[in-house]
Amino acid sequence: MEHDETAPEEKAPHRRRWARLYATYVTLRWVSLLGSILLVFVVVTALGGGVIASTWARVVLGAAAALAIPWLLRGRLRQLVARRMGRARREGAQPRRAQERSDRGRRVGLGGSWFLVTVNTATLALLCLGFCDDTGRALRRRGDWFLGEADGWLPRRYRDGVSRLGSYLERFDLPPEARGVLADAARPQPAVAARVEVAPPPENFEGPPPPPPVRQPVWFHPLAGPRRHMPPSAGCRFGAHRPGRRPPECELGHCGVDMLRPTGTPVYAVYDGVVEKLVRDEKRGKLAGKFVVLAHKEGKVLTSYVHLHSIPDDLALGMEVRGGETVIGTVGKTGTKRSAPHLHFAVAIRRTERWKKYIDPEPLLMFWRLPEPGPAPSEVVASLSPSTTQPGTAISTP
Ligand SMILES: [Zn+2]
Repeated sequence: MEHDETAPEEKAPHRRRWARLYATYVTLRWVSLLGSILLVFVVVTALGGGVIASTWARVVLGAAAALAIPWLLRGRLRQLVARRMGRARREGAQPRRAQERSDRGRRVGLGGSWFLVTVNTATLALLCLGFCDDTGRALRRRGDWFLGEADGWLPRRYRDGVSRLGSYLERFDLPPEARGVLADAARPQPAVAARVEVAPPPENFEGPPPPPPVRQPVWFHPLAGPRRHMPPSAGCRFGAHRPGRRPPECELGHCGVDMLRPTGTPVYAVYDGVVEKLVRDEKRGKLAGKFVVLAHKEGKVLTSYVHLHSIPDDLALGMEVRGGETVIGTVGKTGTKRSAPHLHFAVAIRRTERWKKYIDPEPLLMFWRLPEPGPAPSEVVASLSPSTTQPGTAISTP
């Protein structure tokens, strides 16, 4: 017994080192294998999610890209290399032993897991470096599609990470048609200049009156701070699945973003402009319920505020509004069937009377100033009298 105990003690440090090295190797192998499979699954399903609405079809697509295709490729490569080596042998010296022939396939190598890691890493490099703009946009919009509405510590961390990665890859630049009119909206908004008190002219002053201080319009988020409200999940973002015929730029149908807020939360005009459409009659608005459309920059930019609970009585067609100051309505769920109260907010570029194109407002909302918080939602609801019906035009794309 004593004799047996001394031997392992001497070998132990040596063995322990090897065991540790082996454990590190196995861990590295598993982490890189699972990590590369998951990353390819997320990236490919986010990209395909722009045209595929079905969950199962997305899962099949992701599994095919991350597992099936590399596996088939490996089989094909093995075949190819084995055939090449076989031919080389036949042309050269005859194989000396039968054993050598049977070993051929094994010596060709292409170890399963490392091959999968290599192919998946190459796929990721191709998608993230070669098509970084599209991949980034898809990750930002749909990188969390499989989480649904899940909201916990881990889903929140995941959403935050994937949206950061997506935004980094996307390096958002405006669609070409929006560059001319929205260049100022796609960068952090300047602090609003304090109101300038103009001193009255001296009594014996003669000449033209001094010009009034020029108001520099600034883009504002439609919902007040202090928290910046953004679409919380893939189903609320631009391009998410919605039934019915929709403009092609809206991918699977959602032409704006949905931001969940309690009923009665004030909604602000995002920029100086005029009221272009106004529907107070829920039935007339159909799926949009009560809604307001504002025209900015001589009508070249349109912003829509949909599913409103109420619209102030003094808001009328053609009326001028001020960005971040004029409350154009309150958050509600008019026109929806089962949804929680939310603001559907959309931005469109208009060139001609009939040519209109929606753009994704989410990257812009990141930059826009937050309006100063106004009264509590309950006070706003109480102060508003029941809405009356006014003429307006229904839109078909809530
Ligand atoms: Zn919506």
